[in-house]
Amino acid sequence: MAVCPLCKVYISVKEEGKTYKGKKYHLPCFEKILDDMEQGEDQRGELDKYICKLFGIKKITPLISEQISNFVKIDGYSINGIKATLYYFFELGEREVGESVRGIGIVPYVYEEAKEFFSTIGKAKEVNKNFVPAITEKHVQIKKPNKGLQKIDISKIE
Ligand SMILES: [Zn+2]
Repeated sequence: MAVCPLCKVYISVKEEGKTYKGKKYHLPCFEKILDDMEQGEDQRGELDKYICKLFGIKKITPLISEQISNFVKIDGYSINGIKATLYYFFELGEREVGESVRGIGIVPYVYEEAKEFFSTIGKAKEVNKNFVPAITEKHVQIKKPNKGLQKIDISKIE
């Protein structure tokens, strides 16, 4: 009997399943994955749009695109989390977004702080109601408010 990778429950033989990338899922579980993927694409489009508006550029640069991919794949950040972090750092922090800012390398420096900020004041909805990062196993030290921000020289960050 196969275990559904999503809900970790056995799929009985008579139950209808769907095989995806070599793994068998319950049909409703598979549909949920499809929904999430679609939503992920929407979110990515929204993030791209937001960054373009923020930086005053017409199109996402290859650097930024690569940074987003790495944040999601390597750091386990959510698209909405990245967006909220940028909002927190640039808009709420009233930082200048000029031509000197070429990338979004700032995100890992303020991601946890932004997360804490939005959860603390319950303002997550204002930016995005799905501000839940995909970090589950990583232990992250939470910085004291504002402590990390002061030390960052964004001109040195791409
Ligand atoms: Zn399942």
